[in-house]
Amino acid sequence: MHEDIFLKVDNYISNLLGIEDKALTDTIRSLDDEGIPQISVSANHGKFLQVLMISCNAKRVLELGTLGGYSTIWQARALPEDGKLISLEMDPRYAAVARKNIENAGLSSKVDIRVGKALDLLPVLLAENEAPFDFIFIDADKPPYKEYFDYALKLSRPGTLIVCDNVVREAKILDPDSTDERVKGVQRLNESLKHNKQVTATIIQTVGVKEHDGMIIAVVNRTGE
Ligand code: SAM
Repeated sequence: MHEDIFLKVDNYISNLLGIEDKALTDTIRSLDDEGIPQISVSANHGKFLQVLMISCNAKRVLELGTLGGYSTIWQARALPEDGKLISLEMDPRYAAVARKNIENAGLSSKVDIRVGKALDLLPVLLAENEAPFDFIFIDADKPPYKEYFDYALKLSRPGTLIVCDNVVREAKILDPDSTDERVKGVQRLNESLKHNKQVTATIIQTVGVKEHDGMIIAVVNRTGE
């Protein structure tokens, strides 16, 4: 692998097009301060989420996995004035840190962080008629990724973009005998997409400041396609 060159190019891109302001660097620092793992998306991936959101005029966004709010801030900044983002986080301590970071970024009025297990909160969103979302970012625990994607479809409309992070896992997905539940979880989702007629989907490999990984990009098809 060419980690060194991937890192240099990633830094070149982020220095041009993915520049973090103080609210974002403070968010990254808050993770160290609070003993929270540094597993946020990269700056370039945050910018990528913004590009995707703007391309589909996203006004209503759902995120699974808030951590300290880093990806939440990137996404909330790409919302229109009356836009709304709901982010689901299992750990109340992480959610409290994220709320502070989001407030520091001046985005509290647009962001609703809900605390609990995503598989418990998703049916509540359905029951509350929060759907449809225009953009859904799945970045929580990996074993139930297929179930998360199925819920995302229920909470979508034709044209909704669904993005799922960490679905390549340094190529570990190539191992059909993997016993890693995270790998098995993303394999189950990746492979289900082959026959899923509800979406047009692909997987983009990613390299750079984060390990070799990848994202599913899926768009919900118009009915009848
Ligand atoms: N999206 C964040 C970012 O880029 O800044 C990173 C999210 S981190 C990779 C995954 C998050 O999902 C962690 O904060 C973890 O606590 C949360 N999580 C794990 N299992 C969960 C579950 N069952 N329901 C909701 N959140 C969960």
